[in-house]
Amino acid sequence: MELIIWGQEESRYDVPVGPYAIGLGMCGPTMIAYASDEHKAERLPRMSSGVDIWCQLFSEPAAGSDLANLRTRSERDGNDWIINGQKIWTSGAHYSDWGILVTRSDPTVPKHKGLTFFFVDMKSPGIEIRPIKQISGDANFNEVYFADVRIPDDQRLGAVGDGWRVSLTTLMNERLAVGDAGGTDVPELMDLVSKIEIDGKPAIENHAVRHKIANWYCQMSGLRNTKYRVMSALSRGQTPGPENSITKVVSASKMQDIGAFGIDLMDMGGVVVDRKDSNGLGSRLFQASFMLGPGYRVAGGTDEILRNIIAERVLGLPQDVRVDKGIPYNEVAQGSK
Ligand SMILES: Cc1cc2nc3c(=O)[nH]c(=O)nc-3n(C[C@H](O)[C@H](O)[C@H](O)COP(=O)(O)OP(=O)(O)OC[C@H]3O[C@@H](n4cnc5c(N)ncnc54)[C@H](O)[C@@H]3O)c2cc1C
Repeated sequence: MELIIWGQEESRYDVPVGPYAIGLGMCGPTMIAYASDEHKAERLPRMSSGVDIWCQLFSEPAAGSDLANLRTRSERDGNDWIINGQKIWTSGAHYSDWGILVTRSDPTVPKHKGLTFFFVDMKSPGIEIRPIKQISGDANFNEVYFADVRIPDDQRLGAVGDGWRVSLTTLMNERLAVGDAGGTDVPELMDLVSKIEIDGKPAIENHAVRHKIANWYCQMSGLRNTKYRVMSALSRGQTPGPENSITKVVSASKMQDIGAFGIDLMDMGGVVVDRKDSNGLGSRLFQASFMLGPGYRVAGGTDEILRNIIAERVLGLPQDVRVDKGIPYNEVAQGSK
């Protein structure tokens, strides 16, 4: 609740929040639940004051939606663990000081059972970070390679082999942290349609335009009320449940669609990339929503996966097919040791 109140107050100021979101929203809650008192005392104040930036080293080339399929290996060596493998799509790794990392410590048991979780110093020898360029021209996420990286055992979070349970703590908090995609919304669109004309009349008088805005207005109101429901649950000490998946499914598509509609309304001017927004119509904002939207529809659970969660865990429909359930990981994953 304090994090939500902080976020509401902070949103009134023009300050950079992005680099700290993963640390405060996901890594912090995981450290609070599993780190030793000494590590909490040392790391958390630096995280919350913004001295240290954190990242989340979960996804791999063959493990995104099916995260438990990950291959990055951790092997015990005295008081240390040695890590080898590759992560991908790691937001902010190139400027992060610390990261939370889930690895496979035992490939001979079913995939969810052989995982072990750590936090890692991103400046450790053997870590190589390669930025990935995006459609917007920015490079916000990275490939991260681990070659014989040593992590002391006291930086393990949770028991050996219990990394899936620790990951769930992160993922449940991620559901809240990435909940609302943001971007251009109905107020920005109302501003735009009051400034431009269609067939010589203000765009706001056009029936097709009004119809679309009314639809997005309903979605915006629904999202606001869903958020209030989550806040009520949090204030009662509960964690955000699977029903909160609907927030991202709706808001990420809305962000992309409103971005595309705004660009269309601006006609040829809408496609001119103009970071200074010199036409005064907010084209830069609509373009940003259009280009970020597809990424938000994937990050923190794709549209399809979130719909599966809503279907199975909220509506109680039959489960998706899981062919590898209960089978040792090394009998399913070809090429793993
Ligand atoms: C902007 C952005 C930031 C990110 N930041 C991070 C980060 O900081 N740290 C990190 O670890 N990861 C990060 N990710 C990775 C993200 O978590 C994964 O991209 C996501 O989980 C999807 O995994 P994938 O890309 O491997 O796609 P896949 O899992 O390979 O999915 C491919 C397609 O198949 C569909 N699909 C897969 N399984 C099913 C199924 N069972 N039923 C129906 N459809 C299915 C998916 O919906 C998708 O359309 C980020 C991604 C983005 C886009």
